[in-house]
Amino acid sequence: MKPETSAVRVSLEHARQSLVIQGGQVVAANTSGWHFEFRKHLSADSQAFDLVAERHIGWNELPWRWMLILSLLMAVLLFAARILLRQRHDRHRAQELLRLGQVGRLNTLGELAAGMAHEINQPLTAILAATQAAGRLLADDPPDLATAQTAVKQAADQAKRASDVVNRLRRAVEMPDLAGQLERVNLLGAVRNALYLQEPELKRLGITPLVNQPGQEFHVLAEPVALEQVIHNVLTNALQALEQVAAAERSLAVTLDVQEGRGCLSVQDTGPGIPKQLLSHLFEPFFTTRPGGLGLGLSLCETLTSGMGGKLHAINRVPRGAEFCLSLPLAP
Ligand code: ADP
Repeated sequence: MKPETSAVRVSLEHARQSLVIQGGQVVAANTSGWHFEFRKHLSADSQAFDLVAERHIGWNELPWRWMLILSLLMAVLLFAARILLRQRHDRHRAQELLRLGQVGRLNTLGELAAGMAHEINQPLTAILAATQAAGRLLADDPPDLATAQTAVKQAADQAKRASDVVNRLRRAVEMPDLAGQLERVNLLGAVRNALYLQEPELKRLGITPLVNQPGQEFHVLAEPVALEQVIHNVLTNALQALEQVAAAERSLAVTLDVQEGRGCLSVQDTGPGIPKQLLSHLFEPFFTTRPGGLGLGLSLCETLTSGMGGKLHAINRVPRGAEFCLSLPLAP
């Protein structure tokens, strides 16, 4: 401490008397702030003094500017951490929803297939028994035509029953009429959402998608959830195709365009493309070349697209890769 400038007051005390050695900062007794006191009894018996050091710190002495900067910094950091956490949470939730949706679809499909197999197996067994019996009756010498006729009629009745079962199931899974639920949808927004959901997969495959958009934004008439599902399926297929080629050759482009009064979206990949002889089967239910694939994605996409008054088709690109084009009526 420099005795001339120090704010610490030092004194020697004994029997309520005080000898000030260093003046320090003198403050009135009722000044607000914090008062610190250090007191030490000197050990020599001949000088039974207390050495007292005192320091008062007032409100105005606190480092307000640094405290403010530090608080602001902490607030900014906390805010950023909260945004990051929320984003992570949102993404996790979206992926979870997607997974649940896929699992749900698979379960429904399994249920449907099991029901169908059960319902159709009975008439098929009956048809087999009746036709075998008819064959035997016709082979008899002389042939028992009347009983054979009854057996053939039974087989026809059972075939009709099987056909009724199929028709009933088809009606049960028929798509709801989407035409009545069309609304104005920003196609670019829908594409961005779909790409956002695919972000982890894009990152895993090391792909940065290229989005080509026209100068002016446009809206199409669509059912938002169905449109999202179509774009998602087409993007998923493109990523699955890109996974089959070397990382350096992977590229994905999404192009939005207006052509002849329709909003068009094309998804182009540089994957292996589609063998020519398979192009016409792509949209058939249960057509798949992927091990473990269901072959229902594109068939569903086409049903949804035509339900919205749109079109979906696929072509091969030169030199390689596939392109899926979706076109929908423009919103007025
Ligand atoms: P899944 O994905 O379950 O096989 P989809 O109906 O989605 O069913 O696709 C059917 C088939 O179409 C796929 O198995 C694949 O052979 C082919 N396909 C779809 N998209 C592409 C693409 N971008 N590149 C190459 N082939 C594709």
